[in-house]
Amino acid sequence: IYGSRAGLSTLILEMGAPGGKLIKTNEISNWPGIQKINGAELASQMFDHATSFGAEYAYGEVTDIQVDSDKKKIICSDGSVYACQAVIVASGTVERMLHITGEAENVGRGVSYCAVCDGAFFKDKEVCVIGGGNSALEEALYLTQFAKKVTIVIRRDVFRGEEHIQKQVEENPRIAIIKKHVPVAILDDGNKVTGIVLQDVDTKEEQTLEVAGVFPYVGADPAVSFLKGLDVCDARGYMLVDENNETKVKGIYGVGDVVAKPLRQVVTAASDGANAAQHAFHQIKGI
Ligand code: NAP
Repeated sequence: IYGSRAGLSTLILEMGAPGGKLIKTNEISNWPGIQKINGAELASQMFDHATSFGAEYAYGEVTDIQVDSDKKKIICSDGSVYACQAVIVASGTVERMLHITGEAENVGRGVSYCAVCDGAFFKDKEVCVIGGGNSALEEALYLTQFAKKVTIVIRRDVFRGEEHIQKQVEENPRIAIIKKHVPVAILDDGNKVTGIVLQDVDTKEEQTLEVAGVFPYVGADPAVSFLKGLDVCDARGYMLVDENNETKVKGIYGVGDVVAKPLRQVVTAASDGANAAQHAFHQIKGI
C-alpha cells in the first residue's frame, strides 16, 4: 500500500496465497477500527487495497537475493529474476514441528498445524493442542466449534499466551488442560491418528490420550533461508533492522514476524511495512 501509493513500481512476490499467517487465523480482534474480522477476509481486503494503488502480484519462491550496491536481484526457484532498488522482506515464520515419532508421517492424517484449515474434519471428535502460547490458545478455542473435547498440553504449569485468552480457555467447558507434560509419540492405526503419548516432565510417567487430531502450536522459526548470503539475521535467524526497518545492507528491509522484535501482531507488522516503504521511497527518490 505505502510503496504503490507513493508511486513506486511495486511488486508483491509470494509463494502461497497472499496473506501469510493472517489467512490461517480465524479471528482478528485487535486490528484498530474493526472489532472482529476473519483473518482471510482482512488479508483479502489488504491485497485488494494494495493492488488498487497499482501494486502488482506475482507467484514466486525466492531462493536468493543478490546485492550489487543499489541494485538488487531477486532469484526465484523457477529461474525468474527480478531487479529492483529496494527489497522489503515480509516472509514471516514457519511453524515448528514437535520432531516426535508419528508426527511427520501423520501430517494430513490427523496431525495439522492449521486449525482454521483442518478443524472442520474433527467434528464431534477429540483433539489435542500442544503449546501454551497465543496461537495454541486461540486455535484451541476455535477448535471447540467442531471437536467435542480439546485437550491443551503445556510443558510448564503456566501458559505463555495473554491473560484474557487464557481466561476464555479456562472457562470453556469443552477444553481440558494438562500441565507439565510433553508429547513423546503420536499413535496411528496405519491410516489415521488414534492417540498421543504424553510424558510427565517430573516423574517421566507416560499416559496415552485417545485423540483423532493433534495440533502442534509450539512456536515458529523465521523464514529466512534466501537471506543466507547477506548476514542480516541474529543467532535465532530473525532479521535485525533499524528504526526505518532497514537492515545493515542498504535497501534491504525486514518487516513483520521475520524481524527480531518484542511484539508480533498484525498492527506492528503493518507499521513496519509503512516505515520500510516510506524510507525506501525517500532513498529511491533521493529525498
Ligand atoms: P510462542 O508464543 O513462542 O509459544 C510457543 C508455545 O509452545 C509455548 O507455550 C512453549 O512453551 C511451547 N513449546 C515450545 N516448544 C515446545 C515443545 N517442544 N514441546 C511442548 N511445548 C513447546 O508461539 P506462538 O503461540 O506461535 O506465537 C508466536 C508469536 O506470535 C508470539 O509473539 C505471539 O504473541 C504472537 N501471536 C499473537 C497473537 C495475538 O496477539 N492474538 C496470536 C498468535 C500469535 P513454554 O511457554 O514453556 O516455552
